[in-house]
Amino acid sequence: MPSRTLIRGGQVYEHGGDIHRPRTADVLVEGSTIVDVGPDLRAEDAAVIEASGKLLVPGLVNAHYHSHDTLCRGMFEEQTLETWLLYTLPMGAGRSKEEIRARTLVGALECLRSGITTVQDMLGLVPLTEDNVDVVLSAYREAGIRSVFSPMVWDIPPVAMVRHRDTLPDDVQEMLGTRALGAEEQLDFLQAQLDRHPAVGAQHWALAPFAPQRCTPELLRGCAKLSAEHNLPVFTHVYETRGQVLIARELFGEHGGSLINFLEDVGLLTPLLNIVHSVWISRGEMDQMAAADAGIVLNFLSNLKLKSGIAPVLDLRESGVRLALGCDNCSGTDVQNLFQAMKLFCLFAAVSDPEPGPPLAHEALRHATLGGARAVGLGDRIGAIESGREADLVFIDLDDIAYLPYNSAARQLVYTETGRGVESVMVAGRMVVDRGTVTTVDEQALREEVAGLMRHFVDDYDAVVRSRERALPYMAEAQRRVWSQDIGMHRFLQRTRA
Ligand SMILES: [Zn+2]
Repeated sequence: MPSRTLIRGGQVYEHGGDIHRPRTADVLVEGSTIVDVGPDLRAEDAAVIEASGKLLVPGLVNAHYHSHDTLCRGMFEEQTLETWLLYTLPMGAGRSKEEIRARTLVGALECLRSGITTVQDMLGLVPLTEDNVDVVLSAYREAGIRSVFSPMVWDIPPVAMVRHRDTLPDDVQEMLGTRALGAEEQLDFLQAQLDRHPAVGAQHWALAPFAPQRCTPELLRGCAKLSAEHNLPVFTHVYETRGQVLIARELFGEHGGSLINFLEDVGLLTPLLNIVHSVWISRGEMDQMAAADAGIVLNFLSNLKLKSGIAPVLDLRESGVRLALGCDNCSGTDVQNLFQAMKLFCLFAAVSDPEPGPPLAHEALRHATLGGARAVGLGDRIGAIESGREADLVFIDLDDIAYLPYNSAARQLVYTETGRGVESVMVAGRMVVDRGTVTTVDEQALREEVAGLMRHFVDDYDAVVRSRERALPYMAEAQRRVWSQDIGMHRFLQRTRA
């Protein structure tokens, strides 16, 4: 019989319950699963965890993240997405196994410490080898976080998709990337990994074609086939920047100038699809997504840091498209923290409409839990504290100053919590953070290991920065051309011009 744990006397946050003053209840966990939630549960044989003074929240789902540049945290500022890629992609490629393990662990522990129990890692794994896949999956198992792993695939070189490519000298084009693996080779690789490591326990799979404009129809159709055969969710970057709308209109004319139509035409617009970002999606395309029960993962933190603009929260909400939240790269947001993401989701309504009204805190909590769960293909297994679901739980310390006074669980989780109140974290019934201490990984040893790795890493970073200097003026000019074209859509606030 699986071991049983009784979590006694916590306030249990239930999406359909009292979201301001959650009821006090016990949670009985058997193996990895919640088997009962209610007052005064009895279980003689169960280990007991006292949770009075704690708010129990469903584990948060980070529905968009890349572990390849976690060690670049704090290294960038100022740049736009397109220019930042010149740095972050090479810094994630061709790294040692020790470094891949360490960066995966660092990201996983940061997630856990901020109450994230599931992470969707859309990993740019270069080189794309079985050894490297093994290192990543083993690190996630070691950390004890629930992972939804998807090595990114693409078969159109990055430079081919830069607008005004002809204005860039050859060596700058080379820096952006002029090579790509073939579609068939990558599809075979993905199939082989699914066979080698079938989903088990807290390890799950997804598919990640980089972006529709970076993949041939052959690769995308292959992903659609794998998705249908294995019932796998698909994540792909869509309409992150304004330039991508221009690309859609100019290069995808036979699909009505729409990347969503293109995804539909290659068989990917299904309930398993999630498009990431969608800062520059049109209202018609939102409705099209909603009708297909496809979803959108919003990443306000990286969209702001990389100057992409603000996703249209109120329009998205009105369209009824399903939503999830993510934190994106560590060098594009510098933090894995869904409390920040939830807060921005609620606050950004104000940039387009001063009318009193939603989105409200409890909606943000739904998107960061149930919405994320649905996006990663675990809609009925995680995201809520109820019988039959996996025991992925966050224990929030109500003695933290953020709850003094304590007026509303939902509002204070979204507007006041920073992550500081996260005291313990359970994933699949196992305590992976226990009263402030990570139980799975020796954090001090990891700290020392990363310090050792960083000596070499920083030298490589300096070399990359030096080599990119020449590219900056060309990139800036190419991007100014993009910004000067009116596309009839606005995702930036107007500046006051003197
Ligand atoms: Zn991304």
